Amino acid sequence: MRILVDIEGLTWARAWEVCVKTCAYTNHTVLPEALERWPVSMLEHILPRHLQIIYEINHHHLQEVAKRYPGDMDRIRNMSLVEEHGEKRINMAHLCIVGSHAVNGVAAIHSEIIKRDIFKNFYDMFPERFQNKTNGITPRRWLLLCNPTLADAVAEKIGEDWVVHLDQLTKLKPLVNDSGFIRTIQVAKQENKMRLAKQLEQEYGVKVNPSSMFDIQVKRIHEYKRQLLNCMHIITLYNRIKANPSGTFVPRTIMIGGKAAPGYHTAKQIIRLICAVARVVNNDPIVGDRLKVIYLENYRVTLAEQIIPAADLSEQISTAGTEASGTGNMKFMLNGALTIGTLDGANIEMMEEMGRDNIFIFGMTVEEVEELKRRGYNARDYYNNLPELRQCIDQIDSGFFSPNNPDQFKDLVNILMYHDRFFLFADYESYIKCQDEVAKLYQKPNEWAKKALLNIASSGKFSSDRTISEYGREIWGVEPSWEKLPAPHEPRETEESSK
Ligand SMILES: *Cc1c(COP(=O)(O)O)cnc(C)c1O
Repeated sequence: MRILVDIEGLTWARAWEVCVKTCAYTNHTVLPEALERWPVSMLEHILPRHLQIIYEINHHHLQEVAKRYPGDMDRIRNMSLVEEHGEKRINMAHLCIVGSHAVNGVAAIHSEIIKRDIFKNFYDMFPERFQNKTNGITPRRWLLLCNPTLADAVAEKIGEDWVVHLDQLTKLKPLVNDSGFIRTIQVAKQENKMRLAKQLEQEYGVKVNPSSMFDIQVKRIHEYKRQLLNCMHIITLYNRIKANPSGTFVPRTIMIGGKAAPGYHTAKQIIRLICAVARVVNNDPIVGDRLKVIYLENYRVTLAEQIIPAADLSEQISTAGTEASGTGNMKFMLNGALTIGTLDGANIEMMEEMGRDNIFIFGMTVEEVEELKRRGYNARDYYNNLPELRQCIDQIDSGFFSPNNPDQFKDLVNILMYHDRFFLFADYESYIKCQDEVAKLYQKPNEWAKKALLNIASSGKFSSDRTISEYGREIWGVEPSWEKLPAPHEPRETEESSK
């Protein structure tokens, strides 16, 4: 608007029309702390002209709201671009919705939550703007390049068309009854696990058992992603082994990796706790190679490419309603890991594609989380009623995992007991029971591998090619061009040279 009005000399109305046709808004989170609200005092200092323009946009916008909902002052206040309570701020998401011809979430459930919850009033007013575009991943990087063993096995059966038409993977479905191919899938996974085991031994000095289940959670560290819930499962397994040292347990190597934002203290405490638990578990001779815990440092795309092809189990355990989509979940699915997850983000659509029997679902639904919020969440009720949970929390609290600094994790326990926005204790029991089912199935390698194959064969929807076509057709009004474009290193034909 600043360029079109101040520099190009367009009328306000014409400039606004161009802006709205030019902009589309993709929302990526519903967590309130991540939705930007810029202090007016800051804008006054560094972008004074933009602030004037925002006020003018808001004036026109609120006139339309008032016309549509005469006298509805609550709605007008709620839909304003300017927040007046407390420090005066500009709500950037509201500005995006008002200034865009399309608004979308990144998984079906997320797009629904946007419409009925955080942006409800805007949906009432502009229903035609709201869309869904489920995220995707590129099969070139996340299968062809990172997992050549599996990629070759797939190509041997169905050719190479899947590289650009990932839906073709459905052709693998009948092969669940081909014991030779099931064996091939198992061998590919085993090779990838051996390679990773060797790397881990070199880098961390931890000897991992390559026939143990590789149970992996890699993603940014955040309370809503619930790495702490995974950690509580680890402690529970440890306590069970210690209580029954001669018992048989399905061996697991549990890997957790990810970075914390520099200023996010709680996330850094979560990393410290996982490392502390790993130190105790990995050095306990009673445990042996039945349980190993590894914190993967410096998690990034190049490390993801090594780790994901070696995963047996993918952990996608966010509180329902908090993970907009997730894409890590799709990478694991495409590489033949089974998922343990909540009905959140794209996990729901993954389940729809592969069928309920081929994924381990646990925990509250979005509706159940909302019901719990209405009822009031009391973590202590779960603590009192679940002895394994109580033992685990008492150990963290008393310094069992941090004997040199017994108070180190008191803040984490305090959050879990009294300020937990993500309801870890409410999903603990269901998570542990689901993990027991995972262990049971892992003892039947053929059944496991069949489900892994059905995961791979059902992952076609999650190609970013599909996502990008949808953005093109349904938001930008463009059709794909199949004309071959030059590669980045090739000279591009300019208008001059084509004349
Ligand atoms: C795919 C990817 C993510 C996203 O993972 P989620 O589990 O969806 O949060 C984060 N970091 C890296 C390095 C990735 O490759």
